[in-house]
Amino acid sequence: MPTISNGIASRGYATRSPNGKLAPFNFMRRPVGKADVLIDIMYCGICHSDIHSARSEWRGSAYPVVPGHEIVGKVSAVGQSVRKFRKGDIVGVGCMVGSCGKCKYCKEGHEYNCVEGGPIWTYGSYDKHTKGHTFGGYSNNIVVDQGFVLRIPKGMDLARTAPLMCAGTTTYTPLSYWKVKKGQTVGVLGLGGLGHVAVKIAKSMGAKVIVLTSSKNKVKDALRLGASAALLTSDRKQMERHNDSFDLIIDTVSADHDVNSFMPLLKLDGKLVLVGLPSSPLKVAAFSIVGGHRALAGSGLGGVEETQQMLDYCAKHGIAADIELIPIQKVNEAYDRIVKGDVKYRFVIDLKSLKK
Ligand code: NAP
Ligand code: ZN
Ligand code: ZN
Repeated sequence: MPTISNGIASRGYATRSPNGKLAPFNFMRRPVGKADVLIDIMYCGICHSDIHSARSEWRGSAYPVVPGHEIVGKVSAVGQSVRKFRKGDIVGVGCMVGSCGKCKYCKEGHEYNCVEGGPIWTYGSYDKHTKGHTFGGYSNNIVVDQGFVLRIPKGMDLARTAPLMCAGTTTYTPLSYWKVKKGQTVGVLGLGGLGHVAVKIAKSMGAKVIVLTSSKNKVKDALRLGASAALLTSDRKQMERHNDSFDLIIDTVSADHDVNSFMPLLKLDGKLVLVGLPSSPLKVAAFSIVGGHRALAGSGLGGVEETQQMLDYCAKHGIAADIELIPIQKVNEAYDRIVKGDVKYRFVIDLKSLKK
């Protein structure tokens, strides 16, 4: 274990400015505390939120940014009081690495909504141990409180499971909250990392799934992934034919878009649930939701317990991401390709490549 007295020497990739490229970066992790788990990272997915953060598209990113919150790895050491995990266990870490644990939302398992200082994000949050900020999973290791470490069920393909740590929980949570079931029609708007996992999960829950995509070349794939149909959002006539037919639409689009144009697709009482996080505010026309008694809702990640449920659910239903495995040296190229919509459907970094 690469321990030195005041912490753990780590290697990763970081960007130092909104326009900067990701490049090799050496830094210190905190020493393994009593309740901590040290994880050797094997795989880390690239979420579009990593790009928003690395480029400070949501403003205020703390540099250097070491992104990465779709982590799967092997436990290499545990603190004295850790009972949940042992050296050698295969585990996952998602978007959060801590929260107050005492506020009403933490107690209810909604750590994501912690109101006592908010959750500690896997990267970019104040880190009381180092007095700096947290660094994510584009790195060889990470130290995490055992309460935020997830168990990866046996038999899962580890590289394809990494994206579930964010894309999985972010789509499973609204689909289960809104009780998606057989007989319902679910729309998935945007077929990217989140979108393609949403298709698989919604389908496994028994719903009829229809993909709404801006990319002609994804129509065939949508069917292969389990959708009954895929509509091109630019084809107004085709869209109109599906008016008043969706119970729920999960909107995963990462860039500015007009949500009003999708509201007529919803049945009476239908919901459009935003999970995508474009940097500019959305404009919602009152007339697009008032008539039709429609709701525009939002949803973030699941809590820790729900994330474990999601992993167990995906293991049981054979759900994992479709990925392109890359060495970390290709991460900048991957970012550009994601922004162009040129990934099917998640890049995952093989952290073995850091040794090169
Ligand atoms: P992604 O892989 O890049 O997918 C986004 C998809 O949005 C694209 O594949 C594309 O689908 C569509 N899209 C992109 N630009 C568009 C444009 N200009 N007009 C219309 N459609 C466009 O991204 P992701 O990793 O799935 O993340 C999606 C969003 O969710 C990001 O904003 C991310 O930050 C956010 N997110 C939120 C949470 C949460 O807690 N709520 C968690 C994770 C991620 P088509 O080609 O099919 O049109
Ligand atoms: Zn994410
Ligand atoms: Zn809290």
